[in-house]
Amino acid sequence: MVVRCGALARFGMLLDVGRFVQNTGRMTFWMALFVLAVFLAALSRPVFSFSEHISGAAPGTTLAGQSPSQSSPQGSAAPAAQQAPPSQATPPPTSPTTPGAATQTPPTPPRAGLNIVVLDPAHGGTDLGARGTGGIHESDIVLEFAAQVRTALESQGFQVLQTRQANANPSFDDRSAMANAQRGAIFVTLHIASTGTPGTARVYVMNDMAPAADATGLIPWDRAQAPFVSLSRKLGDQVQSLLAQRFKGSPASAQTASVRQLRTTAAPAIAVEVSSVTVEDRAQLDHMAPGVADAIARGAAVFRPSYVVPTNPGERP
Ligand SMILES: [Zn+2]
Repeated sequence: MVVRCGALARFGMLLDVGRFVQNTGRMTFWMALFVLAVFLAALSRPVFSFSEHISGAAPGTTLAGQSPSQSSPQGSAAPAAQQAPPSQATPPPTSPTTPGAATQTPPTPPRAGLNIVVLDPAHGGTDLGARGTGGIHESDIVLEFAAQVRTALESQGFQVLQTRQANANPSFDDRSAMANAQRGAIFVTLHIASTGTPGTARVYVMNDMAPAADATGLIPWDRAQAPFVSLSRKLGDQVQSLLAQRFKGSPASAQTASVRQLRTTAAPAIAVEVSSVTVEDRAQLDHMAPGVADAIARGAAVFRPSYVVPTNPGERP
């Protein structure tokens, strides 16, 4: 029994050694296969650069920028594709004061819908605007109208920016610049006329302007409205038709006039003028405010789908 047991034990040992050799062989085989797989994977993607994972630098570029041979003078139309994409920390240079100049900027995020209205209570500060016999000042009344117009626009889902909140008097250019700095906004300037039948309201848009761009492709500041004239008319007609329903004696469609504030505005832009400061009792004007506010807000809402918002601030439609 002992011998047999010893023989069995030896046999068992041999079996164990055999299994060990067999297992080691399998391990070696799988390890070799793994190494081969890693090698093949490396071959299929020969370049791995950490620069692809920092600051959005494209492969082959350095964070320091281009070599001197690639640099170009400021302001020239260097192809953006040859340069490293801009990082988040340095937004593309845009100039809201030069409509059309923004076409040189690299691609920006997807187009947003028309959602901003720049609301301009005209005059203000030392500029009182039209004055009625009863001490009524246009600059005061438009500010009060603006508050109601703002509420009506916000209830239609618009974000409203006001060119003035109080008795200040920003320049024409400052007011236009607020609209021109937005990526797609409409501009509404509010006035109270010294003429016209009391209880009526009119919308004015710029008359047709000469072709906008000069030889450089830039639109001069004082013709910023040129590319937007037809859109302005569309917006103006919408608002005017709603005003006409509300205030009998008002025109059926928008009228054209050379309005200084509209000329420098690179956005669909209208002037809304309410008659008039000559009323005996200013309550007559106050009663018109809700109707004017509603017409502007609903007109803007109807106009919204017909305006494809430009990609860059100040860009032509
Ligand atoms: Zn005015």
